[in-house]
Amino acid sequence: MAHKWVYMFKEGDMNKNLLGGKGANLCDMTKLGLPIPQGFIVTTEACTEYYNNDKNLSKDIIDQIKSSLTQLEEISGKKFGDTQNPLLVSVRSGARISMPGMMDTVLNLGLTDVSVEGLAKKTGNPRFAYDSYRRFIQMFSDVVMELPKSRFEVIIDELKEKKGVKLDTELDADDLKEMVVKFKEFYKKELGKDFPQDPETQLLEAVQAVFRSWMNSRAIAYRRMNDIPSDWGTAVNVQMMVFGNMGETSGTGVAFTRNPSTGEKLIYGEYLINAQGEDVVAGVRTPQPISHLEQDMPEVYKEFMAIANKLEDHYRDMQDMEFTVEDTKLYFLQTRNGKRTAASALKIAVELVKEGMITEKEAVLRVEPKQLDQLLHPTFDVTALKQAKTIGKGLPASPGAATGKVYFTAEDAKAAAARGEAVILTRLETSPEDIEGMHASKGILTVRGGMTSHAAVVARGMGTCCVSGCGEIKINEHDKSFTLDGKTYKEGDYISLDGSTGNIYGEQLKTVEAEISGDFEKFMKWADEYRTMKVRTNADTPADAAKAVEFGAEGIGLCRTEHMFFEEDRIKKVRKMIVAKEVEERKAALKELLPLQKGDFIGIYEAMGERPVTVRLLDPPLHEFLPTDKADIEEIAKEIGETYESLQATIDSLHEFNPMMGHRGCRLSVSYPEIADMQARAIIEAAIEVKKSKGYNIVPEIMIPLVGDKKELEYVKDIIVAAADDVIAKSGIELKYLVGTMIEIPRAALLADQIAEEAAFFSFGTNDLTQMTFGFSRDDAGKFLEDYYARGVYESDPFARLDQTGVGQLIEIAVEKGRKTRPDIKLGICGEHGGDPSTIEFCQKVGLNYVSCSPFRVPIARLAAAQAAITQSK
Ligand code: ADP
Ligand code: MG
Ligand code: MG
Repeated sequence: MAHKWVYMFKEGDMNKNLLGGKGANLCDMTKLGLPIPQGFIVTTEACTEYYNNDKNLSKDIIDQIKSSLTQLEEISGKKFGDTQNPLLVSVRSGARISMPGMMDTVLNLGLTDVSVEGLAKKTGNPRFAYDSYRRFIQMFSDVVMELPKSRFEVIIDELKEKKGVKLDTELDADDLKEMVVKFKEFYKKELGKDFPQDPETQLLEAVQAVFRSWMNSRAIAYRRMNDIPSDWGTAVNVQMMVFGNMGETSGTGVAFTRNPSTGEKLIYGEYLINAQGEDVVAGVRTPQPISHLEQDMPEVYKEFMAIANKLEDHYRDMQDMEFTVEDTKLYFLQTRNGKRTAASALKIAVELVKEGMITEKEAVLRVEPKQLDQLLHPTFDVTALKQAKTIGKGLPASPGAATGKVYFTAEDAKAAAARGEAVILTRLETSPEDIEGMHASKGILTVRGGMTSHAAVVARGMGTCCVSGCGEIKINEHDKSFTLDGKTYKEGDYISLDGSTGNIYGEQLKTVEAEISGDFEKFMKWADEYRTMKVRTNADTPADAAKAVEFGAEGIGLCRTEHMFFEEDRIKKVRKMIVAKEVEERKAALKELLPLQKGDFIGIYEAMGERPVTVRLLDPPLHEFLPTDKADIEEIAKEIGETYESLQATIDSLHEFNPMMGHRGCRLSVSYPEIADMQARAIIEAAIEVKKSKGYNIVPEIMIPLVGDKKELEYVKDIIVAAADDVIAKSGIELKYLVGTMIEIPRAALLADQIAEEAAFFSFGTNDLTQMTFGFSRDDAGKFLEDYYARGVYESDPFARLDQTGVGQLIEIAVEKGRKTRPDIKLGICGEHGGDPSTIEFCQKVGLNYVSCSPFRVPIARLAAAQAAITQSK
């Protein structure tokens, strides 16, 4: 039998990989006996096949689509293109994971000059028939032919003017008939061919357009932001149309079984009477809250509620549903596990456990680790908030507090954010084109649109604060300004948004740090029960260390010592140390630095208690510390009794062409052993002092960076051991310490068995390891990697998401070889990747003991590690 490319709804199951999320759920709901307009699914495999086949539908696929269509005609009792009772369908995309607003839907397909008459006759409503036809021409032109919908608006406006009316609804059947003629003329003029009058051609064109939309730039950008592989492809759902635009007893809406912002267990949503499809989401008219349906159509409301509850019980999760009422008959068009804010996700997970619907273990898997980020960021300072005056109020579309400068286009927002500004993107309404600008913004403010408008849905998904639908705003996108509460705000002016109340403030407002409590705390406890890897933090100051401990860090995986060198009171001493011509001079300068470094470590040890602390010796190339300013150079020259010219010459001699691969890391200690000596003393003296004062039993972990050879490590280690043992002996106190290394040079990974002879621990420095493995500089790669994404060469940034196939292989080699030499070797990761959930999953797989990440990512890492432990133990 030929391969099966097309499934009727009643044939399919919950195989989302094959049928897409939307399609799988439609099949499942059909099985549950719910009122689903029937249809069929062209699979994701067909999408892949389409791309493999040079963007052509194979004969097999076409044949199967046609025979499914025949079946659908039988089920519906209608016929495609019929003059009496025409079948109309929607063509909807559906990837495995929902990508809201990324792909476009075509409604009312099957309408032609002939079948529109059939529809008019059958419904007795020519106005409705021609309105559907003109909408279809617009959607088909837009989605399939890339002739934007908006180009047709001119024609609509002309017609309205001619008739002397303001609203679309004031146009009658004859006007709409005329509109259809004009639309088709325009179509022909722009595209050089007639609007297709064969429904089958329309359908096959639309199916291909959905497949093509998988590769549009919006979809590519969305996938990159969400780590979705491009080879998944999308399915296409072809579904019999039902009509929410047939009059006052019809309507369409969207609803959630629980509140997606707060998690509150209360049906939440909105609908529009006499409307179709996108009308609700597009924010053209302001919709009614779902509770209102109880008055509008009590019977429908009852049935709706019963099905909503049934769906939640069935999927054991909060549902996001789309429905349409056609002349008092209710249909469900979609359900899926609803997207939600982090706060809502936690509340729902905790409550579902309470309700006995899911176990704690399942709950742990229900929250997206990256989302927790939303809860770890600031809210408005309460006193500042009390004193602030609201200048307006919109809908609380996505929670959080944002303060920043106003920008009016996605591009301007993106550019300002790149300059380091905090941005509030302000738009009449947002559209999928704005996605990158929205991503770059701290907050989003729209004039139009409800709680389920594009802006609201996308902002909640991103965890970005959003206030939508503030109709009092008079926006002037052209002048880049808006007026609210009698005052005009121009591009670059500060405003603040409270996404939890919808309040807008015309000023910059102070924000405060977040804390872990309530549901969050309870949930994290569950996660920790399943977690097997430790989570440490990268912290260089006592304040960061304390914050990280609050967030649940179990140690420091990377304490960089160079940051301490940059501080105001030290940099001069550091510079003297670097430019010293004689060893004695250098030692003298280091002696001045020692007490300061020691002080730093004391602060950190005190913040960390007995938790392990890994301190890395000085890492960056020395010239990074040197002055470039003439006045600064002159000042130091004077202090060390040299001429300006001679000091400048020393500084010039330190210049490197390729500093990232130059004189840095352990190479510094090979040239200047006294640096390692000083740092080791500071680390050990501080530990002894805190042991004495606080009684903490500290075991410092001294980490040597950038090692590529065992001898190199041995050389530096000997210096450290000599210094440390000297300090310990003199103190008369017992203290254990470890010396280990970073694995961040490919050679070190390959020779890890030898290196492990000298190293008590390995910490994978995946930033450098990525840089050195790929052979591109992380300071420069950003510029050209954009081209790689645009051209589909790479899908994600290897500095953000570990390249598991290449760099990951080096890690696996090092783990295996390291353990062979030293079975109890401690293994961790301290690069940027340590806080990335997909990398954490990898770390669990290769058996690392811990991951280490920045303080704000500690809870994310805890959850990701728990999920990895759960899924990998299955
Ligand atoms: P998205 O993935 O962007 O939500 P959908 O495929 O769900 O796109 O389609 C958007 C909207 O179009 C739906 O919410 C629904 O209102 C309308 N729609 C889709 N198919 C049909 C249909 N067969 N009958 C009536 N309305 C439909
Ligand atoms: Mg939908
Ligand atoms: Mg490094």
